[in-house]
Amino acid sequence: MVEQYDIIVAGAGMSGSLAAGMASKAGSNVLLLDRNKEQEVGKKTNWGWVCGDAVANDHLKFIHAEAGLSFSAPELEQYVDGVYAISPDLESKYLFEGEGYVLDRPAFEHKLLEFAKNSGAHYVPEFEVEGPIMENGFVVGVFGKDAKKQHKELRAKLVIDSLGIATQIRRKLPENPYVDRDVDVDDIEATGRYIYEFDLDHEDPMYFDTKNALIHLNQQIAPGGYGWVFPKKGLKVNIGIGVQKRSLEIRNKKLGKGDTLHSLMDEYVRMNPVIKNPRLFNANNNGKGYWSVAVRHQMESLVFNGYMGAGDSMAMPNPISAGGIGPSLVAGILAGKNAALAVQNRDVSVAALWKYNLDFNEKYGKKTAGLEAFRVYLQSLNNDLLNYGMKTFMSADEAEQISYGLIPELHLAAKFRLVLRGAKNINAFKNLLYVVKKMKLLNEIYRDYPKSPESFPQWRASVRRELEDVKARFKPNPV
Ligand SMILES: Cc1cc2nc3c(=O)[nH]c(=O)nc-3n(C[C@H](O)[C@H](O)[C@H](O)COP(=O)(O)OP(=O)(O)OC[C@H]3O[C@@H](n4cnc5c(N)ncnc54)[C@H](O)[C@@H]3O)c2cc1C
Repeated sequence: MVEQYDIIVAGAGMSGSLAAGMASKAGSNVLLLDRNKEQEVGKKTNWGWVCGDAVANDHLKFIHAEAGLSFSAPELEQYVDGVYAISPDLESKYLFEGEGYVLDRPAFEHKLLEFAKNSGAHYVPEFEVEGPIMENGFVVGVFGKDAKKQHKELRAKLVIDSLGIATQIRRKLPENPYVDRDVDVDDIEATGRYIYEFDLDHEDPMYFDTKNALIHLNQQIAPGGYGWVFPKKGLKVNIGIGVQKRSLEIRNKKLGKGDTLHSLMDEYVRMNPVIKNPRLFNANNNGKGYWSVAVRHQMESLVFNGYMGAGDSMAMPNPISAGGIGPSLVAGILAGKNAALAVQNRDVSVAALWKYNLDFNEKYGKKTAGLEAFRVYLQSLNNDLLNYGMKTFMSADEAEQISYGLIPELHLAAKFRLVLRGAKNINAFKNLLYVVKKMKLLNEIYRDYPKSPESFPQWRASVRRELEDVKARFKPNPV
């Protein structure tokens, strides 16, 4: 007998559980599938719930307003005033993202799953999704293996893909003009992190701060990415790095080294003078892990016939901070609501699902192409230029605006004169002006997101043209 649902949500992580809960609340018959056992819900890989686990409070407020969910301890493990990005020489720091929390991730995921189940979603753990079922150009279900390793086909009017970055659904869609199947390797950060308990050698808020999440920009230690030190409860820390593969290769070649993500992670921990005697905190076997994050603009369309995507499956993390929890939560809410509406209206075509594109674009997505351009620029700066630029080019306020996807005016003329007087690194400053202009342009293009699929191809071509220009101008240059 073929099982038939209104909506199948594949993946019970951040985006999936919320999407399933919202669609169920709106009256749909929802199946929520995940390969993990229930006690390990939301675990990304065998390596655990690999993440820095920092999320801005604004996103939690949005979930509260939309889903009525509120959070407290234990899932909110540590409050932070914000996130500081620190220059390689530790002499400049910019605050970006406002107040937020470092999560106890397994506890948070359980809370979201409870929401899905209490809202009426039918949850099936230990189901490995292997691909979409296609009929007449529509996704009409998924196939995979159940807990007994039996092949199974499950059908629905609509499938929501929340399988994370390695999604087996999006990557197996037929070639189509809406959703890309592949992500360029240069747009991916290879990441790894530890959760450690440690002894405090001495206080130094540049290396560990119970009130703030710290990000270290340093092209030698984290080429093409950054290192992070996020405080957890007590003397516990989530510490890790992300690197761009290409930047790491260039750095190794120039320095004659053979470093890997793993060796750099260990070096990053060793060079932190505050963290003494680190001991792996391995509750839930979650103390050490590796995974990947896409740091590009999200898929230009998040929908296809019978298909919607939310979270990492759609490359939603912020291109400069790699923060993907916020957009996953936002997308989960919006996907769930729009999916239920489409099912009620008995139309799951691209055109009928388009409103989800518009909603996500408005709430979050419109800034990410600009941020991707800025990320490419950042990856072209070595440590000297990062130090100099963070001191000279931009005020903390301007940098904060950029991190929110806003475009600062940069008081350009005045600054230009200032740099001219010093006559140092003039090219890097000109490049900053160039990239800020491109960010502005990309933001304008996204403000004009197509209202329906008809004008999508031309619109997408214009996004790609601008980003290709930026990528042609800036090449990774870590050392
Ligand atoms: C090292 C690292 C650090 C990060 N730090 C931060 C941070 O500090 N702040 C932040 O905001 N973001 C951070 N991110 C990004 C953030 O973790 C993700 O954006 C977020 O987890 C995305 O949620 P999701 O629900 O889309 O996908 P996921 O969390 O990946 O969940 C996908 C779910 O689908 C399941 N699944 C996958 N494949 C299958 C399959 N074939 N069949 C069945 N089930 C399957 C998985 O097991 C999982 O339960 C970080 C990421 C990494 C890797």
